[in-house]
Amino acid sequence: MTDVLRAAPRVRMAHLPTPIEKMGNLSRNLGACTIWVKRDDCTGLAAGGSKARKLDFLIGDALNQGAEVIVTHGAVQSNHLRQTAAACARHGLHFEALLEERVRNASNDYYKSGNRFLTQMIGGKLHYCPAGADMSAALEECKEELLRAGRRPYVVPGGGSSRIGSLGYVECAYEILAQSEAMGVKFDLVVHATGSGGTQAGLVAGMASRKNGIPILGFGVDRPQSVQHAHVFEHALETLRMIDPSACIGNGNIHVDCGYIGGGYGVPTDGMVEAVMLGARLEGLLFDPVYTGKALAGMIGNLRAGNFAGMKDILFIHTGGAASLFAYPELLRKFESRNGVATA
Ligand SMILES: *Cc1c(COP(=O)(O)O)cnc(C)c1O
Repeated sequence: MTDVLRAAPRVRMAHLPTPIEKMGNLSRNLGACTIWVKRDDCTGLAAGGSKARKLDFLIGDALNQGAEVIVTHGAVQSNHLRQTAAACARHGLHFEALLEERVRNASNDYYKSGNRFLTQMIGGKLHYCPAGADMSAALEECKEELLRAGRRPYVVPGGGSSRIGSLGYVECAYEILAQSEAMGVKFDLVVHATGSGGTQAGLVAGMASRKNGIPILGFGVDRPQSVQHAHVFEHALETLRMIDPSACIGNGNIHVDCGYIGGGYGVPTDGMVEAVMLGARLEGLLFDPVYTGKALAGMIGNLRAGNFAGMKDILFIHTGGAASLFAYPELLRKFESRNGVATA
């Protein structure tokens, strides 16, 4: 049922459909099945990424409600803030963001470069909050303050993961099904990074509304397994109720693997460094340290462990994030020192 999707207010910023490409060298290197990549890093909005799909619907909804300022929150190296700031600039909306210092003892580059630099460049009002602050409560407070000042705020939850934002990934699910048919390739599994949950919620709801059983596996980057699982399930249910109340999903439709987070959100792992470097050197693709690098490491780890045995075609959704590579210049040094390559 796509009526809800078609009727939802939206703007059109994301360059869609994003292409699906074969990662031939990586597939051969891993001696695995064929691994495909969906290029959601190429959505076109301020260096691309997954938030563009969500923002098409979120900004549409905000404008529809007569809002003039968007308030949201994210980590210091947030892709969501970069793309939301850009969406606001493009639609003449004010932008206010709460920045959570979620990664402790980070480098100077982490605080100044990458997404932080780009977000500041695009502009808006940025407020810093300490790690562990209740960001949802802070966001609500920010909204109340704006209301008292006679402003018209629209609150976007972290990562753009409201049910409205998830519509962007319902559409992505439909896009994948159409591309799969056109390519004559039946994907056995779709994998991606899961954080605030909207991406997976939209994909799961979209597939369920089409009665399609391709499993969607999200690799966590932050919360523990059971918490992330429940979180995604709740979001997926909420999204599905909106687009197709007659369809249903159960706990078993949600596949989450939080075994590749390592020390925590945004904290590098050896597997992530290897995955990011494999992507760069074998495919010329830029995966990121926080999300797609850990998801790719998770996919590689599962392939090596034989957990995907019998599968022929796996689709990895590249959700973007490469801007934050500039906040992690030590990655290359780590990789080269481990592999015995001299660094400058
Ligand atoms: C936000 C983000 C994700 C996670 O998507 P959620 O909908 O928050 O789960 C994955 N990858 C990148 C690069 C992101 O910016």
